[in-house]
Amino acid sequence: MLAAAVLAASTLTAIARAQDAPQRYDLVIANGRVVDPASKRDAVMNVGIIDGRIAAISRSALTGARTIDATGLVVSPGFIDLHEHVNDDATFGHQVRDGVTTAFEIEGGTADVAGWYRAHGEAQRINFGVAVGHMPVRIRAFNDTSALTPSGPSAHSPATKAQRDLMIKLLEQGLAEGAVAIGAGFAYTDGMTADEMADLFGVAARAHVPVYVHVRPGIAGVQQALAAARASHSAIHFSHINSVSLLETPLTLKAIADARRTGHDVTTEAYPYSAGMTGIQSAILDRYENGTDSMYQTLLRPETGERLTRETFAKYRKIGGTIIIFMNSEAMVDTAMMSPLTMVASDAFMINEKGHPRTSGTYSRSLKRYVRELKAVPLMDMIRKMSLMPAERLAGRVPSMRKKGRIALGADADITIIDTATVADRATYTEPTLPPVGIPYVLVNGVVVVDKGALVPGAKPGKPVRARVAQ
Ligand SMILES: [Zn+2]
Repeated sequence: MLAAAVLAASTLTAIARAQDAPQRYDLVIANGRVVDPASKRDAVMNVGIIDGRIAAISRSALTGARTIDATGLVVSPGFIDLHEHVNDDATFGHQVRDGVTTAFEIEGGTADVAGWYRAHGEAQRINFGVAVGHMPVRIRAFNDTSALTPSGPSAHSPATKAQRDLMIKLLEQGLAEGAVAIGAGFAYTDGMTADEMADLFGVAARAHVPVYVHVRPGIAGVQQALAAARASHSAIHFSHINSVSLLETPLTLKAIADARRTGHDVTTEAYPYSAGMTGIQSAILDRYENGTDSMYQTLLRPETGERLTRETFAKYRKIGGTIIIFMNSEAMVDTAMMSPLTMVASDAFMINEKGHPRTSGTYSRSLKRYVRELKAVPLMDMIRKMSLMPAERLAGRVPSMRKKGRIALGADADITIIDTATVADRATYTEPTLPPVGIPYVLVNGVVVVDKGALVPGAKPGKPVRARVAQ
């Protein structure tokens, strides 16, 4: 209560200070085109920042200790990525140059929420948070040594009653430690029975938190998860609907739209690439064990850049590592990305600078392809998919997210400045770390982290984002 009152008072003070001209701001973004989906504002304005918050949005000129001239540029809420992996300093560096100011490890999550936040400390380049993950929890319940994703018994075996009870306990413990959500990967855990699925959605329903899940393939996988969520009165979020749906994307999007019309709390996300990426030992690749020769050509090993053969697949399947899988058509990717149902989420996945270009290019590529080139999604709508929608998805459990995803008085000054005429991804499958162009400035909590397109060395204003939990 006291903390909330102090917070409210400081916000009011900042706004009051903003109204007493002349005011000197820590930072001013001058003459930019502010595009804010929450207020539907689309106008050239000056934005003043004090103490990490937006303290003025004004047509009149403002004076700042520093002024960024945003003439001809778009001033957008910073992008909020509900789906990334690895979450180390290098990954955050790639993401922030792509405009991301807050990123969450949700689908995978962790079995040790308190330990995860401890390990990430109080300061990173961008804001960060984690879910408690059913996959790592299942790995722990099976005493498995799998690194990236479940394999062996933790993927394929049904759980005993004792293992199921332990999983419920670990999930509840993670939520009590401030996890922002529950993550899951039914596609990675084919040993999971209907009873275990009901356990998971039961935990979610009791805690009023959605399950963010990578479902089993196609419309069958989506319908199975929808039915289980509905039976438990649980909310659900479908990870990367593009890569789980492939040719069935129109069907899965329709199933989600139909469920929403009945009042079920259902959301989804997509990334703008036709290839996916995962651990080569994961259960998803089981069908390649006896594949046709041509199937191996669709696999690329990021560590070496080579396309696989039957022989190298067998070799790397034993050694481990990651794999990029070319599996979708451009038309289905476009269908997913252009749907008003989908938020943009990257599924960023880069280990030691080797990985998927979506880590460095998801947001710039979406702006380039769907807003500028295809003119299929208006700028306001694309910015909503990248900022306001993910903020609102989390806000029920994480009230601090109400201060993100918007350019508004008192909001956190997480701001991405875009040159919509030139914005473009440059990362490729062979050079996945190439940063985009056309995102000259990114601010996190009012601090410039990307300056004239380059990372500011040592700038780490990003803070942990956790759920509000009962003490
Ligand atoms: Zn996934």
